[in-house]
Amino acid sequence: MTAELIDGKAFALDLRGRIATLAADFTARSGRKAGLAVVLVGADAASQVYVRSKGKATVEAGMASFEHRLPADASETELLDLVRALNHDPLVDGILVQLPLPGHLDEQTVIATISPDKDVDGFHVTNAGRLAVGQPGFVPCTPLGCLMLLKNRLGSLSGLDAVVIGRSNIVGKPMAQLLLAESCTVTIAHSRTRNLADVVRRADIVVAAVGRPEMVKGDWIKPGATVIDVGINRVDGAEPGKTRLVGDVDFAGACDVAGAITPVPGGVGPMTIAVLLRNALVAAFRNAGLELAEGAI
Ligand code: NAD
Repeated sequence: MTAELIDGKAFALDLRGRIATLAADFTARSGRKAGLAVVLVGADAASQVYVRSKGKATVEAGMASFEHRLPADASETELLDLVRALNHDPLVDGILVQLPLPGHLDEQTVIATISPDKDVDGFHVTNAGRLAVGQPGFVPCTPLGCLMLLKNRLGSLSGLDAVVIGRSNIVGKPMAQLLLAESCTVTIAHSRTRNLADVVRRADIVVAAVGRPEMVKGDWIKPGATVIDVGINRVDGAEPGKTRLVGDVDFAGACDVAGAITPVPGGVGPMTIAVLLRNALVAAFRNAGLELAEGAI
């Protein structure tokens, strides 16, 4: 069997197109652009790249991007004051504080200070709670992107066996909640799970969010299963001094067995920013008291 590729790049592009159309509609109806504020503390190279690409994508979608940079030695008070000011800014619909923060700043305190109604990353406990009890809120971007890819490929997920490998607050746990809400039978596997290969072999849906290059082997996969590889791992390339990106799944091995699989890169990665824009636009409609058709994005 050769697995079908799940093209996250194409799906994300299409989603961003739909977001741009709705963002223009929002501007026409509200008289202002939907606004996303991104806060970067310090000069971490990877974070700078992420913040730049988020800002660019926001503007491309016809939304307003507000970038705030604080020095690496900014105090917690300075950062919390900025977040509170953004909470009260009527032009800002969504707030994202780029993680990780420098060690002297407590991420949970910062996340707890963001208004849950502007928490487009979905990391606030209020939004985690809303997800857990099935109330509308904001869902973390990466797992929501994975769910969109799964539903696009499989339609109804009801009754399917799903295994999520990883239990982080930003990927594994919300992914499991989303799959449960779709009526999957969900297993959350993690670093203490025994006989992981056997657990994965039961799954119609495998979501790997571990951070270990090519850990999930092809012969762990149930024939025909749908595999979503969240992992982004940089490993040595074929040529000396060159690196390449691989996922948490042995792609070549899994392709022989799976029904469909996301590649790395070009699978889950492009979905994350697209869903961030989606969450920011949903926030804008809600904050402005305007209706957005259910399932429009
Ligand atoms: P994390 O380090 O917070 O969590 C990793 C999880 O994997 C933990 O819950 C741990 O229990 C589990 N784990 C570790 N070793 C294991 C093992 N041997 N067997 C089974 N489980 C094991 O990571 P995270 O933030 O959830 O991210 C996971 C991966 O997804 C990383 O590679 C990260 O780069 C990637 N990621 C990608 C995107 C994207 O946009 N595509 C977004 C977020 C994270």
